Parts: sequence; C-alpha cells; structure tokens
Amino acid sequence: MSEEFLPFSRPSINRAAIDEVVACLESGWITTGPRVAQFTENLREYFSAPFVLPLSSATAGLHLALLALDLQPGDEVITTPLTFVATLNTIILAGGKPVLVDIDPHTLNMDLNQVADAITEKTKVIVPVHFAGLPVDMDVLYQLAQVHHLRVLEDAAHAIGTVYKGKRIGSFGDTQVFSFHPNKNITTGEGGCVVTTDAELAKKVGLLRFHGIDREAWNRYGKSGNQDYEIVLPGLKYNMMDIQAALGLHQLQELESFIARRTELAERYQEALADWPQWQLPGTPAFAHRHAWHIYTPLINEQAAHMSRDEFMQKMKEKNIGTGLHYRAAHLYPYYREEFGFKPGDFPYAESAGERIVSLPLFPTMTDAQHDRVLDVMYSIFN
Ligand SMILES: *Cc1c(COP(=O)(O)O)cnc(C)c1O
Repeated sequence: MSEEFLPFSRPSINRAAIDEVVACLESGWITTGPRVAQFTENLREYFSAPFVLPLSSATAGLHLALLALDLQPGDEVITTPLTFVATLNTIILAGGKPVLVDIDPHTLNMDLNQVADAITEKTKVIVPVHFAGLPVDMDVLYQLAQVHHLRVLEDAAHAIGTVYKGKRIGSFGDTQVFSFHPNKNITTGEGGCVVTTDAELAKKVGLLRFHGIDREAWNRYGKSGNQDYEIVLPGLKYNMMDIQAALGLHQLQELESFIARRTELAERYQEALADWPQWQLPGTPAFAHRHAWHIYTPLINEQAAHMSRDEFMQKMKEKNIGTGLHYRAAHLYPYYREEFGFKPGDFPYAESAGERIVSLPLFPTMTDAQHDRVLDVMYSIFN
C-alpha cells in the first residue's frame, strides 16, 4: 500500500494557535485564567448570548446543565437513540430517566411528532441533537416545549456553525452545549461550553464547574481581594484551562473557513455519489438552514453494496482510508437494555441507521485529490 493512511477526521491547527499555546505555557499561567476569560468573551460575541461557560468537555457541559435543572427521581428527559452515549449517560448521572424517541429517517434528527407523543406529566427536559450539524426544526421544537412547559437542552456538540432560519444555533432558545473535541468543528484539544439565556442556570453551572466555590459569597461578608471563599454547592472540576483556550481563540477565528471547506467537500460527496445505488445520502429538510457538516454520514444499502457497513469499513481500512461510526443506536448497549428495558425493534429507524451509517473522511485540510481517492477506492470496493 503506497498511499499513506487518510483519517476520517483531522484537526486543523494553524501556526498562530501553536504560538499562542507556547506563549501560554511560557507565561506562568496555564490553567483557567486570562485566555479562558478572552475565549469566553469571544464565544459570547459569536453566539450573541448573554452567558457562555467554557468547560473541560461537552460531556461536562451536559452533566452540569442537567444538574442545574435539578431533576427529581422519576423525572423524564426525552432524547434520541442516534447519538453519542454522553447524551444518555449525563441524563442518568443527573438523576433523570432517559426516554427515547425514534429518528426521522430522512434527516436522522429526532422525530418531533414522536417527541410530542412521548411527553408525560413526568417530562421535564427535551435534549435534541443537531445530528452531524443539521439543525432540528427549532420552531416546532420550541413550540412544543412552550406548550408543555419543558426545558430544552440542545446537545449541539456537532453544531457550532449551524444556522437555522438565519440564526446561529446558540444565539436563541434555552440552553446549548457545544463540543471542542478534536473531531468537532473547532477544537481546544478537549473542551466544550454551555451557552444559555438563563441567568440562574449560568450561575449554577459556573459554581458546579469548580467545586461549588463562590468567591463573591465570601466577598459579601469579608474583606475583598482575599483568597478565601465559600462553598455553596458540592461541585465538580470541569473548568477549561488557558492552554485549551489558547487553541480555541484561534480556532474560533477559523470556524467560517472550516465550515466553508467542509461544505465544499460534503457537496462534492453528494454530487459524486448521487447515482450510486450502494448509498442512501444525507437528506435535507425544507426549512432554511446551513448545515455545519461536522460529519458526512451516508447509509450503506447492503443489498446493492453486497456487503455490510462493517465489511465496508474494513475494506476501506485495508486500502488505508479511515472511516468513522457515528453511531450505533444507543439503546441497544447492554447497560441501557438492562436498566431501562430497551430492546431491538423499539426504534427501527435509529437501529437501521445504526447498522448502516458510515462517516466518510471529511476535514478542512482534506484536498480534492484525497477526496478523489476516497471515491476511487469506494468505486473499486463496490465494482
Ligand atoms: C462529541 C459529542 C459529545 C461529547 O463531547 P465531548 O466534548 O467529547 O465530551 C456529546 N454529544 C454528542 C452528540 C457528541 O458528538
């Protein structure tokens, strides 16, 4: 095999970002400090949002936002089975019961009609996932939430850069969580943030991300400028470091160009593969939007391809091309089956997608030649 391995995803870190990390390391202040403060400001501006809280990951963000919503035993949280398991795990860790609804097989986003049917008196929160960077229908979702007095926590891990009817995800609605994992649209190594319009929730997440320490509470009673503090909640340790923010400051500046290239590559796949019987391509909803193309995820048609998704991934690997699996239907993992009684057949569209979905290579520095190579290799595998 002469050609080098092509990964399905690869972060793009420019020289300015690397220099910023080095400057941070040399500054003597590497954990949460001035660079996180600046990154917070820049994100607030980007989202036009009143409250942004950078954290160590999106998983941390989901966990803290759900903790801040103060779920009581038996409270139900509605989400999709076609997601990363962090979405379900954090619901459970925050004391909620995950209630799943099937996906729309066209967009792979949660089916909002089924969300309406799943709402009970115990429902407290809806957690939609903007799958692959395609927004859920926000007008319909928020209408539903308003009518039933529910909170909405958007798992927007895929969706920095996603636009719904002219508005950025994160710039409107209730609360959103974004991820800065290396595979996501921008990266801080590991990292994420909570974005919210809710001052109370922002305050709680702010406390919970760093041990529950409230310096202001102490300052109210003591001398200012002291290192002392009060503990007002039992918190965790989910703060972002300045080393991470150093990357984020420059990644955010590049986001638009990253999305532009991701879009070019995704559209190139859509056009090239349009007539291939082996694929069912990602569908687009009728409402105005911009897809952020975090991943490009067609579904294999096993009969036309004469192979399973897993066989396809294996053959690609043998040809030195990486692919990703986002995701198997989460409810079929042993823990959720045993704990919540989920079983095969519960969510047929999510299960079918989970068996057939593949993430093809897509990242901002991918060249047209590399893209052609992926298409050529796929052609040779199928014919
Ligand atoms: C990546 C991802 C997460 C978790 O993000 P981390 O920053 O890695 O914790 C959560 N939900 C979805 C849908 C994701 O893709």
